[in-house]
Amino acid sequence: MYRIGIGYDIHKLVEGRDLIIGGIKITHEKGLLGHSDADVLIHAIIDGMLGALALSDIGTLFPDTDAKYKNADSTVLLRHVYELVKQKGYKISNIDSNIIAQSPKMMPYIPKMKEVLCKILELDFADLSIKAKTKEKLDAVGRELAIESNSVVLLKKV
Ligand SMILES: [Zn+2]
Repeated sequence: MYRIGIGYDIHKLVEGRDLIIGGIKITHEKGLLGHSDADVLIHAIIDGMLGALALSDIGTLFPDTDAKYKNADSTVLLRHVYELVKQKGYKISNIDSNIIAQSPKMMPYIPKMKEVLCKILELDFADLSIKAKTKEKLDAVGRELAIESNSVVLLKKV
């Protein structure tokens, strides 16, 4: 038996914050604003996993009113949600995701992101797709005010 989930996230780009996407630090003059480390890709993947299990969403599970999650490392949240997936008797079949950023270029960082995320999620490289897109200079993402991510997660009953 399979279950599928969709995840989406967006964070504002601001000065004075580190840019952390896919569990790695990216060199850039701005970073993403959020209560946690604002890792937009990991948050989209988490919401895809939670969505597949109809277990609500990241904001419900890790409320931004909870001081415990201030500047939280999103890889820790990802590990926690992956444990939930396993507890429910599922494993991840595959994940497809997009990072939508006008700048900086995400492509050079994707192999390292895959390394970090595949290790946490016990996935082969072939089962995690991360695609880099721009917004063709349109809207808030295109004007470099934000970075977006979406993901589709397929779970398989073990
Ligand atoms: Zn987020």
